Amino acid sequence: MPTHTITRSYKFCAAHRLHTDQLPPDVNQKIFGKCNNANGHGHNYTVHVTVQGELNPETGLITDVDLLDRRVKELIVDRFDHQHLNCDPAFEHVVTTGENLAKLVWEILIDQIPSGRLAKIGVVETRDNFFEYIGNPQP
Ligand SMILES: [Zn+2]
Repeated sequence: MPTHTITRSYKFCAAHRLHTDQLPPDVNQKIFGKCNNANGHGHNYTVHVTVQGELNPETGLITDVDLLDRRVKELIVDRFDHQHLNCDPAFEHVVTTGENLAKLVWEILIDQIPSGRLAKIGVVETRDNFFEYIGNPQP
């Protein structure tokens, strides 16, 4: 069945440290390398939010982009921009990997899409790291 998607991109800057208290320090260092450095480090993150839906025949649109932008700014950009991800309550017991960040963004936005449905979250962490997450659809 034919389908439409739109992907919007949003940027924020944040620090993080790849570390888990579940493992001893030497194992953390071995797994995460310099990303385990105690002082953390920063990224200029880009989040891609892909919405899939039916085309509104009157507007030719599948979602309200202005409303989507406002919600993502409020719920994602304002929450994470210039923050240390390890200090966010959602990452208290979760490693701040790009994989987990993409999953968290999905969980935050799943019931916030103005019309259409959330189809995919992408997180660009570095030039060489791009993470994607497709979670369960909204119940
Ligand atoms: Zn990093």
